[in-house]
Amino acid sequence: MVDQSKCITCGACVTICPVKAIKIVKGKATIDPKKCIKCGSCSQFCPVTAIEIKK
Ligand code: SF4
Ligand code: SF4
Repeated sequence: MVDQSKCITCGACVTICPVKAIKIVKGKATIDPKKCIKCGSCSQFCPVTAIEIKK
């Protein structure tokens, strides 16, 4: 889950995602839940904690 109101579009999560599940759509990070393996990396690296992993 990306809280798009917090996302500052830094691109860190896009770079860090091992399965390339994150894209910037309309200026905000968006996770493709079909690709996401819930590794948690994006959540750790987001500087504004905009990403929360829900299992
Ligand atoms: S939890 Fe892991 S696999 Fe899922 S979007 Fe974040 S970095 Fe990618
Ligand atoms: S790491 Fe956080 S602030 Fe940066 S693009 Fe991803 S969700 Fe947005």
